[in-house]
Amino acid sequence: MSNDHSPTSEPLLCSSCDLLMADVKPPPGHTVRCPRCGRRLHKWKTNSIEKTLAISLTGLLLYLPANFMQLLTFDILGTDVSSSLFAATLSMFNQGQYIVGILIVLCGFFLPLLLLSLIFSVSLALHKGRRRPWIARALISIHHLREWAMVDVYLIGVFVTIIKMSHMAKIQYDIGLFCFIGLVLCTIGALSAMDRRLFWSRLDPNADSPLPEPVNAVTGADAGLCLCHGCEKVVPIASQNRRCPRCGEHLHLRKKNSLSRTWALVITAVILTLPANILPIMEVDYFGVPDQSTIMDGIIYFFKEGSYGIGAIILTASILVPLFKISGLLLILLTIHFRLPGWRRHKTIMLRFIEFIGRWSMLDIFVIALLCALVRFGFLSTINAAPAVFYFAGVVVCTMLATISFDPRLLWDATSSSD
Ligand SMILES: [Zn+2]
Ligand SMILES: [Zn+2]
Repeated sequence: MSNDHSPTSEPLLCSSCDLLMADVKPPPGHTVRCPRCGRRLHKWKTNSIEKTLAISLTGLLLYLPANFMQLLTFDILGTDVSSSLFAATLSMFNQGQYIVGILIVLCGFFLPLLLLSLIFSVSLALHKGRRRPWIARALISIHHLREWAMVDVYLIGVFVTIIKMSHMAKIQYDIGLFCFIGLVLCTIGALSAMDRRLFWSRLDPNADSPLPEPVNAVTGADAGLCLCHGCEKVVPIASQNRRCPRCGEHLHLRKKNSLSRTWALVITAVILTLPANILPIMEVDYFGVPDQSTIMDGIIYFFKEGSYGIGAIILTASILVPLFKISGLLLILLTIHFRLPGWRRHKTIMLRFIEFIGRWSMLDIFVIALLCALVRFGFLSTINAAPAVFYFAGVVVCTMLATISFDPRLLWDATSSSD
């Protein structure tokens, strides 16, 4: 069984621009990047399986206390209200926002648990030298889940809530908060300890099977090779419409219907942006006087109060990030539509940045859920979610799905001219 990172006879294909390269062996801790588009192709991590196993197990042990023990206690005029993270996760259901409630339960509770459990089971199985079909399915799921398991965004939401309430209430930090910080660190740690290429290589029954000789070929498509979307194995195009020999996914040269799906999702996001910003997103009931505010009202309030840092965070997450995502995706789609060849490397880097920031727009939704759970002081003050929450969550989900369905290699396929 191969347990090192020695170069194989299998060439490397860049998943962003389809550039064909010979396999290389980087020194420990070093990263292999695509020379054409700059994408990180592989980073060699030492003792990856054992580290991933240990960190994911720690994360799983912290999961229950992080979610079910008291997170924070707010005290306004001697009245205490405390909440666990799980109660905050469910708070949207009490507000009648069922779809947003389901989204928060998925991204903040269920998918992070599924992700950690899969990482733990896979690393345990590989540590024991097992090679079962379920491991391949689990590895593909881990790859998809890392976008949607949002405990890190949720934790920043907790910090924003603390800063937001710090001048109105006395805040007590409970044990659940410290367990939650540990859980987030373990989730990030387990994902970064995973050496995806090593994990997959342990499952490869025919790693050294001969592939067509690439003679003067620049891209995988030129050389008759395609990249499996599930496990990134390089497979001859002759196998197209068949399944990957390693993970069993259907093989396609490019993602299917990528452009039309991305267009549809971006247009939906543009339409949803209007109600998300015009309608009120939150209703604060202070001493019996209800006051509704839109996303922009909330930001202006912080700047007026002198809380510039938190105002800037909410402005970035709720306005700038969605705006940048939508305009960036539209720009990329239009340049492909009109076959404009320039700046392909820059556009690819921008797309990776859009992918990276996509999930952080959920921040405001998590903050509202936390406030609804923690600010329940009866006549004194309560906070409720308002209709824009639904539309705003729609914008976040549509732009995330748009970046996932877009195939960046289409940028490089559109023309054959150089940068
Ligand atoms: Zn590339
Ligand atoms: Zn595969």
